[in-house]
Amino acid sequence: MKRREFVGGIAVAAGLAGCAKPENDCSVGGGISTETFEWDCVTSWPPKFPGLGMAVENLAERVEQASAGRLKIKVYGGGELVPPFEVFDAVSRGVVEMGHDASYYHKGKVDAAQFFTAIPFGLNSMELNAWVHYGGGLELWRELYEPFNLVPFLCGNTAVQMGGWFNKEINDIDDFKGLKMRIPGFGGEVLRRAGGQPISLPASEIFTSLQTGAIDATEWVGPYNDVSFGLHKAARYYYYPGWQEPGPGLECIINKDAWNSLPADLQAIVEITCQSITTDMAAEYTNGNANSLQQILADPNIELRPFPDKVLQHLKAITAEVVAEIMAADPASKKIGKAFYEYLAKVAANSNISERAFLNTREK
Ligand code: CA
Repeated sequence: MKRREFVGGIAVAAGLAGCAKPENDCSVGGGISTETFEWDCVTSWPPKFPGLGMAVENLAERVEQASAGRLKIKVYGGGELVPPFEVFDAVSRGVVEMGHDASYYHKGKVDAAQFFTAIPFGLNSMELNAWVHYGGGLELWRELYEPFNLVPFLCGNTAVQMGGWFNKEINDIDDFKGLKMRIPGFGGEVLRRAGGQPISLPASEIFTSLQTGAIDATEWVGPYNDVSFGLHKAARYYYYPGWQEPGPGLECIINKDAWNSLPADLQAIVEITCQSITTDMAAEYTNGNANSLQQILADPNIELRPFPDKVLQHLKAITAEVVAEIMAADPASKKIGKAFYEYLAKVAANSNISERAFLNTREK
């Protein structure tokens, strides 16, 4: 249900000659509407969860401030209004105006959406941001969501994640055989082909599942979020890097009818605020991960380990197979995947001689 209040014009019109006539533009500054909007926003995150959940709380707060209260957004944690994985449908159907989640949760419904969160061994956070905002990615994303009556925005990125928490050592690709692991999206499919058993779990169930042995391993995000979930108390081995999620973008999705009902200045505020959340999360996660890593390094019960190179090479080969199949099965995935990989080839050439070269040099 829309809860819009039309207070437009009454106070402003007082004392302004001719404002009763609709053909006269009497709004202040020639274009600022006084119409107010109250939106509901559902998310896949535990309420006010550090990073992911707070990003959307910050979004709501900043939009309200920047709009002087003309657009108020009430945020619901996963399960408070709709289940965590039903954000897409709720916003698409107009049950609520806005949602915040990760597009790879829509695997099986809109397979190509996964390219806008993360592809194993794919774009990192800076490169994804570049593709979406400067490399044509946003246009492809908007086109993909058009039939669902949704307008997507990039709104946050956790940066490269960790490989995850394991209660079994991974020394060889065979060690994935029979491994029950919480890992969504493409990464989950790669694990399945490596002999593992990918399991999809909402965030709120991960810790208990790992602690009770219902799963053998889980990836979640990185030190900052993982420690706040207590995952470091439920597994011994903490593997890196997060091959499965090199820079997962989060999405803000808006029902198209709701979006079209906003005046241009409120649309601009929403768009700019989403971009500010992406920038802000990069800083928050860099700082939060650095702090939480100190805690992990000081814990004698945790072994921080790199995946063996041969394991990563094998997972990369499986990834190429999975991507090829998905692109062959679905025209949208073919089109978006082609654009994604063309961009990856181009941007990686630059990343290799800039960020990678610099970081390698700094560590020598
Ligand atoms: Ca993850």
